[in-house]
Amino acid sequence: RRFGTGEKAKPASIYSMFVRIYTHARLEWPSLIAAVVCVIAVSLLEFVVPQLTRFTIDHLIPNKRFDRLFLIGGGVLGAAIALGGLRFISTSLMASIGQKVLYNLRNDLYRHMQSLDVSFFDRNRTGDLMSRVTNDVSILQQMISSSMMQLFTDFFTFTAIAIYMLWIDWRLTLLLLATFPFMILTTRVFGKRMRSSFRTVQESVADVSDHLQNSLTGIRLIKSFTAESYESERFSERTRKNMDANIQVVRLRAAYEPIIDFLNYIGLAIVLVFGAWLAMKDQMTVGTIVAFIAYLRLLQNPIRHFSRIINTIQQSAAAYERIMEVINTKAEIIEKKGAIALPPLRGHIAFSSVSFAYSNESKVLDAFSLELEAGKVTALVGSSGSGKTTIAHLIARFYDPQDGVITIDGYSLKDVTLDSLREQIGIVSQDIVLFNGTIGENIKYGKHDSTEAEVIAAAKAANASGFIESFPQGYDTQIGERGVKLSGGQKQRLSIARAILKNPRVIILDEATSSLDTESEQYIQDALAQLLRGRTCLVIAHRLSTIQQADQIYVLEQGCIVENGTHDELLRRQGRYSQLYELQFPQTDAAQ
Ligand code: ADP
Ligand code: MG
Repeated sequence: RRFGTGEKAKPASIYSMFVRIYTHARLEWPSLIAAVVCVIAVSLLEFVVPQLTRFTIDHLIPNKRFDRLFLIGGGVLGAAIALGGLRFISTSLMASIGQKVLYNLRNDLYRHMQSLDVSFFDRNRTGDLMSRVTNDVSILQQMISSSMMQLFTDFFTFTAIAIYMLWIDWRLTLLLLATFPFMILTTRVFGKRMRSSFRTVQESVADVSDHLQNSLTGIRLIKSFTAESYESERFSERTRKNMDANIQVVRLRAAYEPIIDFLNYIGLAIVLVFGAWLAMKDQMTVGTIVAFIAYLRLLQNPIRHFSRIINTIQQSAAAYERIMEVINTKAEIIEKKGAIALPPLRGHIAFSSVSFAYSNESKVLDAFSLELEAGKVTALVGSSGSGKTTIAHLIARFYDPQDGVITIDGYSLKDVTLDSLREQIGIVSQDIVLFNGTIGENIKYGKHDSTEAEVIAAAKAANASGFIESFPQGYDTQIGERGVKLSGGQKQRLSIARAILKNPRVIILDEATSSLDTESEQYIQDALAQLLRGRTCLVIAHRLSTIQQADQIYVLEQGCIVENGTHDELLRRQGRYSQLYELQFPQTDAAQ
């Protein structure tokens, strides 16, 4: 299982679900109390009409009390109006309580997700996580707004009516209640199955959402591989799973409801037969039987609703489990107690015998040591997969090594606060992430409280102001999702401007120029030179032309440093570096 750290979540008990939800609700007690009062008033009012019926049949009709008929009519009408008003108030109160739960839960979930480690997002699919925040939370909200209200009302009505019926005629009521254990049993048996079916439904929704997320963002790739029909096929496989799971749910419900109805009819039969028998023996009035049947219907309403509510509750329980899996996943990269805030850095970074593996895979770094001198440019070269990006990620503490220590200005990364560390590190990488919004907003991401002048200065330093100002809307130009409206070089310069604005002490360039053509590379080289000035720099390069000026170059092979020195020293050595260099620049080799 992909989730969390690997353990399967226990099915949550319905009870703990309610407790948890209502703690998330941070309820406003006055409105909850008002809703409860309305609900109680509704269940009391429900008594009035059957009582009036009984009174009419047993007293008014035999005594020909024409003068009282208007009272009966008025009574029923008054009860109906009051019921309507109270239901309106309680429904709107409960709906707003439900919306607040939704609001709080969704925000808590999002906040918690933001706090989780990078490795959590490596393990889980984006679409699946998205469906937890959207679909699963909505299911819970539905339950809280409508079903909880219904359940509440029904519970009061049911209890009150059951007590009253016992009081009118306990023998008949007890006979009637004999059908209840069967109902509870049926509900339990079906409830368990429904919950697991709902879980399948929600997982299939997650699959669909995951597929959508992937294929919509990768639409260009799909088209270039003419894979549209292949993708549609795979999509329909997932929607078919969703359909099958839903059909399964509907079948369960279709079997459950008739069983409950059948038990209800048995109840009705009992009342009719024994009621008539008692009436024939003059032990019960006709009005009482009629009232009893009316109450029986009121008693059965909650049970009929209950079958639907139990559905929603089981569905919510499945959604709740999926939400709790996220909430119960704890970040492993956390600040220890008493972590200190890093002072402004000089930027000396040291790895000493660091061993690291992603989850259970083989070690990427094994007893690895490296030193980056403060204020100097250190370059790291090596074939792809040798662990260069991993080193960058370890410096930003996206992952913790299993062994060894990484220090920055002598502080172990584990002893300092995450914010104070990451605020002073800038990473510019080859996969540029830009957010949908304007150019200005994307640069400002480096420092949210920066002024317009600072943004413009950063763009200038990054060689980006020229192309930005050539757009009619300048800094207010919308860049489209992930910057689709910009070229590769433009995106890269925006990401450099963003890093310049952030002004970190340590800067890591992870193959920042690898996907660029030579023309934009020149622009970017200049921009990068601006960015690197006066900072500790780690330049991970795939193009050797980017690193000739580095103060120190390290050559990495399978997680080990095999050579180091300056460009000239390394070329003279005729080792791995010069091999790589020859591969890239065969003709300049002779000139060296
Ligand atoms: P480089 O940047 O030098 O090309 P990386 O540091 O990205 O290499 O990767 C080193 C090794 O770690 C590779 O074998 C790669 O498959 C593996 N790796 C990289 N990222 C992850 C990840 N998030 N989860 C698991 N393995 C990873
Ligand atoms: Mg890499």
